[in-house]
Amino acid sequence: MFENASLSMLDQLGEFGLIDRLTQKYSPGNKNLVQGIGDDSAIYVPGKDKLQVISTDLFIENVNFDLMYTPLKHLGYKVVVAGISDIYAMNAIPAYLTISMAISSKFSYEAIEELYSGVYLACEKYNIDLIGGDTGSSVKGLVLSVTVTGEVDPSKKVLRSGAEPNDLLCVSGDLGGAYMGLQLMEREKRVFMANPEMQPDLEGYDYIVGRQLKPEARKDVIELLDSLKILPTSMIDISDGLASEIMHLSNSSGVGFTIYEDKLPIDTQTISMASEFNLDATMCVLNGGEDYELLFTIHQKDFKAIENLMDISVIGHATENKKVCEIVTATGSTFQLKAQGWESQE
Ligand code: ADP
Ligand code: MG
Repeated sequence: MFENASLSMLDQLGEFGLIDRLTQKYSPGNKNLVQGIGDDSAIYVPGKDKLQVISTDLFIENVNFDLMYTPLKHLGYKVVVAGISDIYAMNAIPAYLTISMAISSKFSYEAIEELYSGVYLACEKYNIDLIGGDTGSSVKGLVLSVTVTGEVDPSKKVLRSGAEPNDLLCVSGDLGGAYMGLQLMEREKRVFMANPEMQPDLEGYDYIVGRQLKPEARKDVIELLDSLKILPTSMIDISDGLASEIMHLSNSSGVGFTIYEDKLPIDTQTISMASEFNLDATMCVLNGGEDYELLFTIHQKDFKAIENLMDISVIGHATENKKVCEIVTATGSTFQLKAQGWESQE
């Protein structure tokens, strides 16, 4: 629908016209912003005694997203959320955003406006300002580069490298849903390609489809931990799957981890979709990405404070067994985690 020749074509509008139209109704809210979009650089006043945090992500059409089933508004929202999630993973507060895009000729102005409506929605929800970017053309497809900055009190920053043996390994929310949502939409895409008369059948799976198309960053978890005066000893966001994120914490901190299959938080829709696909739900949790939950370690002394929180699960603990990450299955066997799933120890 975005390839309709009657819509305003981007080459007529030009880069300046495009940015003007995309940003004309936008007014950034952060009072520390001195100069936003419209000059060679943006300028802002950093918070007093704060550390400045910055993170960049790249999104390439048909590598990182598929416009067959991803509405552009959702895509705009999701790429910003992914950036914000990286800032929260440092225990920092996100502040500013830049977006660079390479656009092919198949996109109309209206398509890019749709994309930006999602970007603005995420800016509003997470209280951050869009302060710049760059725009160019691509030979094929859409490429987005998203940079988010944030701030953190030096005493509150959390790195991947701070976990110590016996720390508890915790995760927010539930895992594997975004991956199962993706599998479902890929299946419906194949059905549609084979027979364009078929309508997608997503009924009963609104939660996992939402996990894939409209993820949220765990601002609430960062605020909750802060209100409980819990400073995680290490933290990472789950963008690539639990197994590889545990291994990142392990490598950076120089500790091992043992996790327990029966402690993994998995939604019922994730479990039933996995069984429809003949997949093991635990494997989907370990390997499936894009949940944007937070994985973190805490001191044992903080256990009491989080024990009864619905949204935080203790899934294991750090060990002295340097860099050895294991999962104890529901039947009591132990396997070593790999970046993709687990492998038998023999
Ligand atoms: P320059 O020539 O210095 O790169 P541009 O003409 O590309 O400047 O950009 C003009 C203004 O528009 C700058 O403030 C820039 O940050 C902003 N801008 C350009 N592209 C985007 C975009 N895709 N999203 C948001 N702001 C953008
Ligand atoms: Mg430019």
